[in-house]
Amino acid sequence: MSKWLIDSHFHLDYYKNHAELYRLINSLEQYTLCMTNSPGVYLSCRRMYKETTYLKFALGFHPQNAELSKRDFGDFLKLYPQAKYIGEVGLDFGSGRCLNRELQLYCFEEIVKKCALDNKLLSVHLRHSENEAIQILETYKPCKCIIHWFTGSPSHLQKLIDIGCYFSLNCNMCSNQRKLSMLTHIPSDKILIESDGPFTKVDGRKFSPEMLEQVYKRIAMELSDKELIFHVYMNFKKILTVSA
Ligand SMILES: [Zn+2]
Repeated sequence: MSKWLIDSHFHLDYYKNHAELYRLINSLEQYTLCMTNSPGVYLSCRRMYKETTYLKFALGFHPQNAELSKRDFGDFLKLYPQAKYIGEVGLDFGSGRCLNRELQLYCFEEIVKKCALDNKLLSVHLRHSENEAIQILETYKPCKCIIHWFTGSPSHLQKLIDIGCYFSLNCNMCSNQRKLSMLTHIPSDKILIESDGPFTKVDGRKFSPEMLEQVYKRIAMELSDKELIFHVYMNFKKILTVSA
């Protein structure tokens, strides 16, 4: 029976045993939103795997993917009408491996504008780019915006809360007191849970879908929320139906 567990940010294509995990996620009946980092990866995932009640793919354009070009963004725009979910997208001015700043800003603004207009769900990566992202999000006010793995300052967090963003939390965000104290400022009706597998660890082990319940348990303990599974389920249901 389904335990109502939702993983709102996972990368199936990053696992060597993706075929096995595709079957596992469906048999565990865990609702899982699989990110992709480029339109090419999205297309191959959709060709390889049927979407199911439990497993869906999001169309992505990841700022850390320095190989992406304007032409790839053209492909993104062509695939956009058929994609119900958008991610991973965002802004990253923190590492040398990223797309150039102008292209990032242009693409992210276009994506946010379109998602706000069409009321599509988007999962957003932000690193060292909070001011620019907040400016864009404030302009277009998308209703279904999930900030994944937030690492900014308390004042950035407050601005994103004021815009109405949701936040997907993972185990690595519980690793020290400073990070933990930020989590408790997020309104409980804006909390979602993610694994960001394979980029996170649970009790020192690389995330795999059978550990999702442990992720919930850990974060439930930190937030002192015994009903976290139910609350996240209701929050996810709300983000799917909310409109401006
Ligand atoms: Zn991710």
